[in-house]
Amino acid sequence: MPDLHEYKELESRYLMPTYARSDVAVVSGSGATFTDADGCRYIDFGSGIGVNCLGSADKEWAQAVGAQAATLAHCSNLYYNPVQIAFARELCQATGFSKAFLCNSGAEANEALIKLARKYACDTYGDSRPTIVALDNSFHGRTVTTLSATGQADFHRFFGPFTEGFRFTPANDIASMEKALSGDVCAVLLEAIQGEGGVLPLDAQFVQKTAELAKSRGILLLFDEVQTGVGRTGRFFGFEHFGVRADAVSLAKALGGGLPIGALLCSEALGGVLSAGTHGSTFGGNPVACAGGRVVLSRVAKPEFLSAVAEKGEYIAGRLRKMPGVKNIRGMGLMIGFEIEGVSAKAAAAQLLSRGLVILTAKTALRMLPPLVITRGEIDEGLAILEEDIAQGM
Ligand SMILES: *Cc1c(COP(=O)(O)O)cnc(C)c1O
Repeated sequence: MPDLHEYKELESRYLMPTYARSDVAVVSGSGATFTDADGCRYIDFGSGIGVNCLGSADKEWAQAVGAQAATLAHCSNLYYNPVQIAFARELCQATGFSKAFLCNSGAEANEALIKLARKYACDTYGDSRPTIVALDNSFHGRTVTTLSATGQADFHRFFGPFTEGFRFTPANDIASMEKALSGDVCAVLLEAIQGEGGVLPLDAQFVQKTAELAKSRGILLLFDEVQTGVGRTGRFFGFEHFGVRADAVSLAKALGGGLPIGALLCSEALGGVLSAGTHGSTFGGNPVACAGGRVVLSRVAKPEFLSAVAEKGEYIAGRLRKMPGVKNIRGMGLMIGFEIEGVSAKAAAAQLLSRGLVILTAKTALRMLPPLVITRGEIDEGLAILEEDIAQGM
């Protein structure tokens, strides 16, 4: 097997330099651990950016996915697809939403969410209300329109002209939100916790007031649950922490347990908006991805599983609070951000990786998104690496 050096050389020859990669070539995984091309083992506090919710190489998941691949890997959306139907039914039953549209990624789920909001506005008000309000410092994806919906100036370079019809307002500022939700607005789009923005949870009061304003003005309340959904925060959806109900949500990342799948879920009232011919996807609801998603749902969408996620999150946060120099600990469930005094998140993450701990960053924060099934033993092993590095001054 080639070593890291050879992979780096081959990659630079054949792949576009789109990613600033860390110096690890991952070849296998098991639970919340990875093994690299040199045989080194890592504790995984990143789960492939919140994807591997059941960890790596989960037996039940691998069995279901393999069996589906051996039976029917793909069938076009021109025909009925029994696995897709079963998955959509289980999604609706688990979440209380009425209808699903299935796609392949978070950006696509948000594109569908945006199209749903605009078509709903068109059907209801004519063409007078196309605008969607989003938050400063948000992240909604890498397609041109989801970049347009992303409230970070850095993302608004190079690829213009961008899609019109997005208005931005600061998180947790009720007065500004009240002003923004006026005139030609059809929807407001929120992340329960801004993930890429730095693991910044919204204030409950702000979300509740936004939900009230939206409802009273005929504006749809949309949540981008791509990172916070599927149990990550200790509830199935992040928005559940705020006591509000979304009209529609996007999911992806953890939804397939490691396979590319995204979903738009909506209320009964919106279920018929994306009528035949208005939207679609060749791969959307692919049987293999849906088979993986069915296993994820059967495991994650259970009160005992979700409370275990919350408990693990509290345990980690409690341990972090005792570590000298660790500050600004925030998040919910197994989505945790913090800073370490005197060292940049990037430098700390690189150092921890070299010591065998995979951890993510988001802006100035170190970010933990471990597999939801991570064991106490794996958590302790990962935290021991962090503690030791902090003790040695990183
Ligand atoms: C990751 C992410 C996306 C984009 O998902 P992709 O699958 O990479 O397209 C969108 N929104 C949020 C909140 C995300 O975390």
